[in-house]
Amino acid sequence: MSTKKDWQAIEKKVFMQVFKRIPVTLVRGKGTKVWDDEGREYLDFVAGLAVVSLGHCHPVLVKALNKQAKTLTQTSNIYYTIPQLQLCELLVKTSCLDRAFIANSGTEAVEGAIKLARRYGKVKLDGAYEIITVANSFHGRTLAATAATAQLSFQEPFTPLPSGFINAAFNDIEAIKAATTKLTCAVMLEPIQGEGGVNVPDDDYLKKVRAWCDEKGLLLILDEIQTGVGRTGTMYAYEQYGVEPDIMTVAKGMGSGIPIGAFLAKEGACVFKPGEHGSTYGGNPLMCAAAFAVLEYIVKNDIPAHAAKMGQYLCDGLNRLAQKYNVITEVRGKGLLLAMKFREEIAEPVGMACLERGLLVNRVKPDALRFMPPLTVSPKEIDKALDILDSVLKERQ
Ligand SMILES: *Cc1c(COP(=O)(O)O)cnc(C)c1O
Repeated sequence: MSTKKDWQAIEKKVFMQVFKRIPVTLVRGKGTKVWDDEGREYLDFVAGLAVVSLGHCHPVLVKALNKQAKTLTQTSNIYYTIPQLQLCELLVKTSCLDRAFIANSGTEAVEGAIKLARRYGKVKLDGAYEIITVANSFHGRTLAATAATAQLSFQEPFTPLPSGFINAAFNDIEAIKAATTKLTCAVMLEPIQGEGGVNVPDDDYLKKVRAWCDEKGLLLILDEIQTGVGRTGTMYAYEQYGVEPDIMTVAKGMGSGIPIGAFLAKEGACVFKPGEHGSTYGGNPLMCAAAFAVLEYIVKNDIPAHAAKMGQYLCDGLNRLAQKYNVITEVRGKGLLLAMKFREEIAEPVGMACLERGLLVNRVKPDALRFMPPLTVSPKEIDKALDILDSVLKERQ
């Protein structure tokens, strides 16, 4: 008799039923591969939702975690700690922003950015507090981040939400202009929408938003939690659009698998005074030493350039499949944040068939799959993923 526990049954019993999980229990990872509890191997093109930037259990991360775990893990922010300041120095050096605050997750970084923008509105903009966000955005799961997330299905179960968020149309500068009033303090956008389905705006959209913010004295907050740290082929996506944000949020890829986030701001937007923001764990030595090692490796090895190259390679392959299969209507995205759109709502069965053949991909919309492998993915691994996808689509014909 097997004594193996049925973890999926246990989850049903003891976990809050909020996730519609894929029926596989993962126990181990290395590079672009993960293994389940039955020893089956998968090519991981989900990467912990665009998090595991250097692949699973990268030696640089493991070493930094081990070393810091034996040295000092938590002090609170009452004291100075070196890993936090090393990380902030590097974040500032590799971006256009001047100061950083370290949080524990993406949502917390967004929450901090919202608070900073509100504070700026109070101090510099006559008490303006409204933040404009756009349709199909995703900014996280706290109540304020949910109010910023302009998708009804996220918002409706929790109304009334915190006020002060104006949801405008995506990729439409006129909609942002129309939503602006004397109460507006900021516009918050993802350079490319991730959870919303990998939606890429027009090339000149961010420039137009930047110009509008400049004209009206508003802050531009870029949520680079998914697009940042090399994912789209440059360190930050804003570089490709010729704009600079006043405030930026970062998370996911910056820790390659450890929970961490940050928000950064230009000097002129740093209006917090002592006591106005804080965190017990945020910026602790353990997470910061790990993220510093990850970020340092990414910079030293120009991982964003590798991501750009591999992104092009994957995108070309997906486009070849689009030529071959009529059911594919579009391939979109930048770098290693890509999506394939289908004529019908078949992302789930296609994704499940890929899983059975040893490939993890993400059903980002009922009619779209998202591809976001580790930034260190190799051409061979991309070839294998494309072969699996090809065989799955062939079988469906
Ligand atoms: C994932 C994501 C978040 C939320 O980050 P968590 O770490 O899940 O809290 C916020 N904004 C964007 C753009 C994201 O992709």
